Amino acid sequence: MEIVPGLHLIAGVNMGVNAYVWHPRAGERGGGEPIVFDCGYPWHAAALMESLRKLGCPPEQIATIAITHDDYDHSGALAELVDASGAEVVAHRLEAASIEGMTWRELPRRPSAFSYVLRAVTGVAYAARPKRSVKVTRLVEDGAELPGGWSAVWTPGHTPGHLAYWHPASRVLIAGDALGSRLRGEILANVGAYSADNEAVVRSVEKMAALEPDTICFGHGPEIVGNAAPLLKRLARSLA
Ligand SMILES: [Zn+2]
Repeated sequence: MEIVPGLHLIAGVNMGVNAYVWHPRAGERGGGEPIVFDCGYPWHAAALMESLRKLGCPPEQIATIAITHDDYDHSGALAELVDASGAEVVAHRLEAASIEGMTWRELPRRPSAFSYVLRAVTGVAYAARPKRSVKVTRLVEDGAELPGGWSAVWTPGHTPGHLAYWHPASRVLIAGDALGSRLRGEILANVGAYSADNEAVVRSVEKMAALEPDTICFGHGPEIVGNAAPLLKRLARSLA
């Protein structure tokens, strides 16, 4: 599904998690080589690549894979996509050790039954799909410019090296898990048992609100197309 011209939701990545590909038509918005944003769960690899083929940008044409953060549901199929594409892997320097490591992220210990169950369930899921190390070939900092007119926005909180990706020309923000949405038009701050630093989550919401995005794509939940800024500003005010 094309969200705004050039940016597609990748259909083969499903089960409540989203991945995107920037694949503008020739001459449109500067054109350029396709960029994949996140890769879904480990078992999404084949469907992810099939979706890319259907969209006219097969894996061997992918020049860049931009990772929001190194969680099982976002970088799970990264190793396979790198194998198939040889693409550059972009991530924040604080996320690189995890991406290059051999263990999935241990979720924070919180004094709640939910946190306990969540950690137990993810432990079982992790054991079923051992992590592969992937080399981050381009370490970036806040504000780094990427191909296609995109830039990296350091949005720590969910993980220390979480990145959102911003496309000023179309005012699109790919928020990863720095934000979530439940219903169309309902934006959530990702505070709680999944996030490493809830105060940083709130500061990152303020930082993204200051960009005044028109369209927001989330790691989980439906995207908001058009007029997203007032909703995000309202969320930021409610957290202040
Ligand atoms: Zn996630």
